[in-house]
Amino acid sequence: MPEGLEAEIWRRAAQPIVGRSIRHVWCDERVAPDGLVDTLNDARILAVDRTGKVVQIVTDAGVLGLHLGMTGRIEIDGTAPIERLEYASGADRPEWDRLRLTTLPAATVDGSGAPAVRMNDPRRLGRLSLDEHLELGPDLLTLSAAELGGALGRRTVAIKSLLLDQAAVAGLGNLCADEVLFWAGVAPGRSADELGEKEIVAIARACRTRLSKMLEAGGSTHGALSPQVRAGPAVCPRDGAPLQRSTIGARTAVWCPAHQR
Ligand SMILES: [Zn+2]
Repeated sequence: MPEGLEAEIWRRAAQPIVGRSIRHVWCDERVAPDGLVDTLNDARILAVDRTGKVVQIVTDAGVLGLHLGMTGRIEIDGTAPIERLEYASGADRPEWDRLRLTTLPAATVDGSGAPAVRMNDPRRLGRLSLDEHLELGPDLLTLSAAELGGALGRRTVAIKSLLLDQAAVAGLGNLCADEVLFWAGVAPGRSADELGEKEIVAIARACRTRLSKMLEAGGSTHGALSPQVRAGPAVCPRDGAPLQRSTIGARTAVWCPAHQR
């Protein structure tokens, strides 16, 4: 699914729409709050931000949140910043559109009609919101050890499950959570309340440094535990030990028992 890194790529790509006015909004009412169209018509776009996995279009009339769900993707001015999501089919049909937003000035100088923002979501698991304040934890790209320690508290859930809890840390999905635990050397099934200070520091540091590298490389599928590595009978890229697959919190964790303790 799109994780915080993909949302950040879309946020960056959407910066050209800042300063424009919204001319027309169409949305799939099944995934939108009441009044969304009336609220946003004629509003001026002040910024495009991101909180966790949510891309937020800040206007002078309200904050439009794009929650991408499992299979959502965004086009800006008729082009896709992420061409093909490796976890999605790659197909693109107009009937899967959940949001089309046109602006003045228009997306293209020649006025070819592409929406400035288009959200397409085959499985319709994403949604739109008008909430300014989302109940989300500290961000995956700036997470400090103190913030992570605060989120862990005395919770007895597996650290992998806690990292996927958006109220604890915002923006991590299955691939990135496995990746930071891999680089921090912490087994995904360890109870959160048993982690030592060094391990908490290592996880927070892996979030800031490794995820930033993956972001620049193209997103959540560009880590050491990429979908290609995960698909195979895989060996650890660090020490050559066989990787293990475990189900934790109904998600598949891929990890190395040799160096993740
Ligand atoms: Zn290893």
